[in-house]
Amino acid sequence: MYCPDGYHLHHWSYRFEHWRDVFAIPPKMHARLHGTLVYDPAAMCFRVRRADGLPGALLDTKPKHRAHLERVLNVPANDGPPDAFAAHRGAPRA
Ligand SMILES: [Zn+2]
Repeated sequence: MYCPDGYHLHHWSYRFEHWRDVFAIPPKMHARLHGTLVYDPAAMCFRVRRADGLPGALLDTKPKHRAHLERVLNVPANDGPPDAFAAHRGAPRA
């Protein structure tokens, strides 16, 4: 799958029907985001990592995942591709 330069593609769900349904985020933010998530194998998506490290709320829709991403990274979420590339065309490389 195509990925814009300077970005990682982040899957909010590992279900087959969602494999192209991703967010495009700079690598450092991607690592920070994963620090706030716990994978739930049964649901094939993520839960919020609570302050005590245990799994919390299930992020089982893209809007829920988007809201979490935007809250913890404090940036607008970019759908990708190709939306992320269009949104960042001409922007400095991360
Ligand atoms: Zn990811």
